[in-house]
Amino acid sequence: MSKSESHIEARAELRSELAAIPTRIQAELTYIDEKIADGCNLIVNDGEKTLIVHEVTCTAIARQLDRASAWRWVREEIEIELAKEHFVPHFMNEVPGKMPSFFRREEVERLSEYRACGTCQPMLAQREKKRPRHIPSTRLGSLGEQHVGREFVTAEGYLLGKLRVVRVVAEFEGGTVTSDDDASVSMVPLDIDSGMLQAMIRERAAGRVTRTPR
Ligand SMILES: [Zn+2]
Repeated sequence: MSKSESHIEARAELRSELAAIPTRIQAELTYIDEKIADGCNLIVNDGEKTLIVHEVTCTAIARQLDRASAWRWVREEIEIELAKEHFVPHFMNEVPGKMPSFFRREEVERLSEYRACGTCQPMLAQREKKRPRHIPSTRLGSLGEQHVGREFVTAEGYLLGKLRVVRVVAEFEGGTVTSDDDASVSMVPLDIDSGMLQAMIRERAAGRVTRTPR
């Protein structure tokens, strides 16, 4: 294929692309009408930080629904190329303006985050819905002095407020010991014989400090 033949072919392709634009615009408008008739009255766009929700009637997004405008730059680029005397086939840069994404109200409410447009102020459960932050839970047994003064919430979502004190309650066969009065206990070694245990108990009762026998 000669160079001029490939140019003729590329021009013919551009012409058919140009000729197809009105049909594509019509198809997009039909899609928009169907979506709105189907109850999808909200449009969700990507914002800088979160998703922005609009009513389909919002003036801020009117251009998005104007599909003739959305295709304008594509059409103009093709027309300019075709008008060139020294036409060189190349890729076209322009793309049509993004089609709007239609949502029903309940679909929007299922999104993990969004912000309601300030212009059209759609009726939504929240103005700004934020993704809940994941906060790890702390086992009660691992609470210590370092947690005193911090706020806590139960697993069920009940706000407990600030932690005032961490108290250990240890229940034994022979009684209950709490950490309130700085109590400490000694764990009896597994290999101790009863005589040594009795001696240890007597020494403790007598108020003498001894090393726990090994
Ligand atoms: Zn809006």
